[in-house]
Order: sequence, then C-alpha cells, then structure tokens
Amino acid sequence: MKAVVLTGIRQMKLTEVPDPVLTSEQDVKIKLSTIGVCGSDIHYYAEGNIGSQVVEYPFTVGHECSGIIVEVGKDVNNVKVGDLVVVDPSVHCGTCDQCLAGRPHTCRNNKFLGCPGQLEGCLSEFIVMPSYTCIPVSDQLNAMQAALIEPLSIGVYAVKLAQMQHKESSTAILGAGPIGLSILMKLLADGVPNIGMIEPLDYRLDRAEEIGASWLVNPNRDDVEAAVKKQEELLMDIVFEASGDQQAVDNAIKILKPGGKLVLVGIPPDAQYVFNMDLMRRKELTIINVRRQNHCVEDAIDLVVSGKVQVSKMVTHEFNLEETPVAFDVVEGYKFGAIKAMINL
Ligand SMILES: [Zn+2]
Ligand SMILES: [Zn+2]
Repeated sequence: MKAVVLTGIRQMKLTEVPDPVLTSEQDVKIKLSTIGVCGSDIHYYAEGNIGSQVVEYPFTVGHECSGIIVEVGKDVNNVKVGDLVVVDPSVHCGTCDQCLAGRPHTCRNNKFLGCPGQLEGCLSEFIVMPSYTCIPVSDQLNAMQAALIEPLSIGVYAVKLAQMQHKESSTAILGAGPIGLSILMKLLADGVPNIGMIEPLDYRLDRAEEIGASWLVNPNRDDVEAAVKKQEELLMDIVFEASGDQQAVDNAIKILKPGGKLVLVGIPPDAQYVFNMDLMRRKELTIINVRRQNHCVEDAIDLVVSGKVQVSKMVTHEFNLEETPVAFDVVEGYKFGAIKAMINL
C-alpha cells in the first residue's frame, strides 16, 4: 500500500510499504477515507519530537481519520465490512490502574496512532486497529465530518473538565486553531454567551467570528488585559489556552478573575511554561490540564449529527495523499489562511 513517511526534519515522502495485517480476532482493517493534519503531526514533522516522544525515521504520523471497514476478525461484532467509521486513535490495555479507574486516555500501556514508538500513523491507505476504537457512522456523517470528530472531542473534553458552574460564566479562548475553534463550537452548542477569542492571526479571528465568537482581541495590536476589561469589567471566570504559547499563558493569568480557572489544552514546543506565581497565588487560580480526551467521542458525534456543531467550518484546505508534503508545509507556515487541512484518499 501507499504510505507517507517522515524521513527527516521537514522531510516526508510517499512510498510503498506492506499492508498491515490483523493481529487478533478483535482487529479490523480500515481503508482510510479522510485524514486531518493535526498540530501534533506538525511538531513531529518540523521538530522531530514532542517532549520525550522522539521520531525514529522512517515513521508515519497521522491520527485523525475516518475510513471504511474492509476486513474484520472473527470476534468483531460492533462494525461490519462496508461501514464508514470514526476511529478513536487511542489503544488501551483495559487492565491497568488507569483503565480500571475509567481513565483509558492515561493508560499505562497506551498506544496512540501516529505517536512515535507506539503505532504507525494513518497517513496511508490502510490501518489495522482493535474494533472497539471504531464507531460506525455510515448514514450519519460524511467522511470529512467523521475525521474531524477526534479534534472536536478534545474541545468537548476540555469544556467538560472546566466544570462550568453556570452558562453566564465569562469565558475566553486563547488560540483560534482547530482545537480553540472546537472549544468555541462546543461552548456555543451548550448555549454559553459572550465568548471571547484572543488570537494574533486576523484570518483566524475572522473564522472565530464567523463561527460565533462574540468579541475578538489581537494581542499584536491590543493590550490584552485592557481589551478584555472593556468586555468584562470583572475579568474572566474561565480561560481556555489552546495555543501552547508562553505569552498566551501570561495573558491568561492576567485576564482571569480571582477564583478563575485556566484550562491548558495547547502543547508548548519546549515542554515548559513559566507561571507568574504572585498573580496565580493572589488570585487563587485553578489550573486544569487536558490530556487528549476521555469518553467524549460519542458526545462529539452527537453534536455533529444533531447539527449543533458544523465541524467542517474549521477546514480551510483539502489535499490528496500525494500532496501531503504540501499540506504539511502549508499548515506549518500558516500559509494561504490555513487552519485545518484535510487529506482525502
Ligand atoms: Zn490531533
Ligand atoms: Zn491500561
């Protein structure tokens, strides 16, 4: 089959590799339909690692995908050949303390699609996965919507972890990339009013406004704290950080009110943030870390099926598998108004 492999920093090529085969009677083989290019894929492409997870070349990335089931093991009964499926990229053991505590996303033996040292990714024609990772959506979603369920589920999970006490909470999001927009869409679907978006790229602010953000701040032009005060004199109850940027974290701490919550979703490039402890302590801020998602895939599917979320609004570019290197270059360079690029097979 064809697969796109990373061969070095900012180097990738389309190549021929053996088809993956079922390794258990619970496995299914999936012919990929649509694959999303994720910010984490871009980190592996441009930097060769995320924190301690280092790429050993050649390696295939990609974890946001939908596809058609083409083969099933004898013990598979949740999907059948021909089904269009959403693929949850997380494979867990089911027996460790984390799995038993209902936390498969932090499974001690977690294997994640397209994560170095774990599983080869989905930027290829076929993958094999345990059938429990597949949710059939044939008559409910198209292939692109189905591939966007993974990033949307992270937004759904971030909002769930924030445990908003009431809809009138003042809320802002830092970063209008695919995850920031997913958080925005989930908050809007929940009926949260007056959501602010803070983002340095004007074309991304425009997209956030189209989707439904009530007020916009560009930190390259405006003093963020002053601009937020104009919107909400008493500042924010909840701030979602979805950029992985130190300056955004600094701003988040400034614009939270005492007792506020900072939800960290973005991945910082060098695994470290500095927090202003004077402000954090005086305001008694709560920090919530988000690790991918836990049990939010079905919720994300429901939001799209019901029409409450139009998830494809985050998509700006579409490519075919051969054009994957172009897609990565466009996304990494924020070229041509890129937010979310999809690869169609
Ligand atoms: Zn992703
Ligand atoms: Zn486990």
